[in-house]
Amino acid sequence: MKEIYLDNNATTKVDEAVFEEMRPYFCELYGNPSSMHFFGGQVQQKVDEARKRVAALLGASPDEIIFTACGTESDNAAIRSALEVFPEKRHVITSRVEHPAVLTQCRNLTQKGYRVTEIGVDSEGQLDMAELKAAVDADTAIVSLMYANNETGVIFPIEEAAAIVKAKGALFHTDAVQAVGKVPINLAASKIDLLSLSGHKLHAPKGIGVLYLRRGTPFRPFMVGGHQEKSRRAGTENAAAIIALGKACELAGQNMAIENSQVKALRDRLQTELMARIPHARINGGAAERLPNTVNIAFEFVEGEAILLLLNELGICASSGSACTSGSLEPSHVLRAMGVPFTCAHGSIRFSLSRYTTAGEIDTVIRELPPIIAHLRQMSPFGREFLKK
Ligand code: PLP
Repeated sequence: MKEIYLDNNATTKVDEAVFEEMRPYFCELYGNPSSMHFFGGQVQQKVDEARKRVAALLGASPDEIIFTACGTESDNAAIRSALEVFPEKRHVITSRVEHPAVLTQCRNLTQKGYRVTEIGVDSEGQLDMAELKAAVDADTAIVSLMYANNETGVIFPIEEAAAIVKAKGALFHTDAVQAVGKVPINLAASKIDLLSLSGHKLHAPKGIGVLYLRRGTPFRPFMVGGHQEKSRRAGTENAAAIIALGKACELAGQNMAIENSQVKALRDRLQTELMARIPHARINGGAAERLPNTVNIAFEFVEGEAILLLLNELGICASSGSACTSGSLEPSHVLRAMGVPFTCAHGSIRFSLSRYTTAGEIDTVIRELPPIIAHLRQMSPFGREFLKK
C-alpha cells in the first residue's frame, strides 16, 4: 500500500538532493571538522558552507547560527541561557499553546521558584497581545513565543510581540520550528534575539537543529565541553546532518514562494471540500493567519483516534494532535486553550501537507473521509443522537 503522507508537521521526507549532499560525509569524508589535518578541514569547509546557507534563509549572518541536535535542544538552550545571563530576573513568559519543548521547561521552572506567565489565545488560536503587553515587566528575563503553531498552523504576530518585549528590556525567543521554510523570515530586519529551528521539519534529517543567536546577545551555553560552535554548543558536530540542513535551507529559499502557493492551493481545496461534504465540522484556527500547509478540522461527535485508525487502513497518515502528545487521550492543550468544546476537540484531525503532496492524494482524502465520519457517527451513541436531530 502506498502511503498518503499528510503528517508533515510531525516530520518530513528527506529530500533526495539533501540526502545526496550528506551521503559522502559518512563513509568517505568522515573527518572531524575540528581536526587540524586536511581530512577534517574539507568537512569544516562544508560545515561553513552549510552555516552560510542556513543564515541566508533566515536573513542572518553565519556567526549567528549555532548548530544543535534538535528543535527541543534549541528551545531549552535559549530559555536556560536567559535565566543564567540575568540571575536576578525571576519571570518568564510564554503562551498556553507552545510545543512541550518550551511549555514543559517553563512549567518546571515554577518548581524552582520562577514566576511563569502563560499568555492565552482567543478562539481562533491568536495570541492575546494586550495580555502580553501587561505581563512583561522589569523582572522578565525572557519571553518565548512560537512563530507558528504545530497543531493548527496559526501564525503569531511575532515581530509585533518582539517589539513589545524588547521595549521592556527582556530577551525575545521564538520557536520557529514549524515556520522556517514555510514562511519568509528576515532576521536582519527583526527584533528577535533567539530563534529555534529543526531540520526534520524542512526535508533535512532528524537530529539536527539550529539556535539563532543575534550578534551581541548575551549567552550561556547549555552544552559545555569542547570549543565547537565558538564554545556556544560543545560536542563534535553532526557534520553530515549539518551539511544536509544547509542544502535543505538552500532549497527552501529557492522554492518557497512557488512551492508554498502550490501547497496552499491543495490545502485550501482539501479544507473547502471537506467542509462542504461533512456537516458539523469546523476548522480550528480557520479565521486566523495560518501556515500554508496545515489544516486542523474538528469533526463533532467522533473520536479522532477512530478517524485516524480508519484513515490508516487506507494508507492515509494524519494526526490527531502533536506527535509528542498522541498516545494520550487527553484533548490537545492547544485546542483546550482555544476553548474548543470537548466534543470537537476529541474529533480534531490535523492534515499537514508538503511539496510532495499531490492533487491525486488530496482527491483520495476528499473521497474517503466523508463516509468514514458518517460511519463513525452512526456507530456512536452521541453521534446517533446527533443524527436524529
Ligand atoms: N517546536 C515545535 C513547534 C515543534 O513542532 C517541534 C516538533 O514537533 C519541536 C519544537 C521539537 O523539535 P524536535 O523534534 O527537533 O526536537
